[in-house]
Amino acid sequence: MPDLSPERRHILEHCGTEPPFSSPLLTEHRAGTFVCGACGAPLFLADTKFESGSGWPSFFAAVSDGAVTTKTDTSHGMSRTEVTCTACGGHLGHVFEDGPQPTGLRYCINGLALDFAPKNEK
Ligand SMILES: [Zn+2]
Repeated sequence: MPDLSPERRHILEHCGTEPPFSSPLLTEHRAGTFVCGACGAPLFLADTKFESGSGWPSFFAAVSDGAVTTKTDTSHGMSRTEVTCTACGGHLGHVFEDGPQPTGLRYCINGLALDFAPKNEK
């Protein structure tokens, strides 16, 4: 992985969780793509972001089937589904089955694990 801030390493490499309502990406409403904060791989489109009220950036779908990888996480006495970046293996967050249609999924993602690439730039 490239040089990352200690805060980002805590999330991406050590499966940490940022405090809720701390991410500036919560109020990011421009068109564009959310990419992996570690490797830059496209992960979520702004079109799939929704206001979940959870305090973390939330999406109802990944940019493509293979963009993220999920696996069962039984840490902290809970059974959750962890979401990682397929390209680099970085920890992103978790996915829950209480999201909006059409998928019914809620990808609950740490803002520190993401970068935002606005449309028409780059
Ligand atoms: Zn990545």
